[in-house]
Amino acid sequence: MNLILLGPPGAGKGTQARKLCETYDLALIATGEILKEEIRQETSLGLEVKEIMNAGRFPADEIILRIFEEHLLKVKNQGLLLDGIPRTLAQAEKIAEIFKRLGMTVDAVIQLDVNDAELIKRLASRMVCKSCGASYPGKVSICSACGGHEFEKRADDTPETIKTRLEVYNERTRPLVDYYTQKGLLRVVDGMKSVQDVFDHIKQELSFLKFSQ
Ligand SMILES: [Zn+2]
Repeated sequence: MNLILLGPPGAGKGTQARKLCETYDLALIATGEILKEEIRQETSLGLEVKEIMNAGRFPADEIILRIFEEHLLKVKNQGLLLDGIPRTLAQAEKIAEIFKRLGMTVDAVIQLDVNDAELIKRLASRMVCKSCGASYPGKVSICSACGGHEFEKRADDTPETIKTRLEVYNERTRPLVDYYTQKGLLRVVDGMKSVQDVFDHIKQELSFLKFSQ
């Protein structure tokens, strides 16, 4: 089973991604995390990306897709969950090409739907684990993902930048949502509910799918 998880920043994608990977034994391909790791390890790619981001730009599709395909080849014999990719229609089309070439298919695209006002509220109070990057809706004392106990606010979690990020996200994602709707793959899940309710809804959507594996 190969899934794509879509949702704006603050919709709870990371939490749901962890639960989905555990439950369905999926390999997670989270391009944001991969990029962070490349930067941390100062690989040639990481240094290239760091320079681009320091200049206030986003890495080009070509770089993102190169990283994506590299990781895909390592885990393609397992079911996959894509988080943070595709972000644009161009990326979605390219991923369809790569999958086709490798004899793979996308089985479902799950969109976590949360309204902007709620997202702004969530992001403004969000705390992030310093060691693993897991995010929490407010202050916590210990990270349930890694056991870390140091937390920070993300530098870009201010009301103004959150608004800009959501605008950019909505603008870029709309064509993507249309694309997957036309392909009959989109499943919209109400992300305003509790973590467990959202997860149960996703599981229910997935139970309707027919898999060869
Ligand atoms: Zn942690």
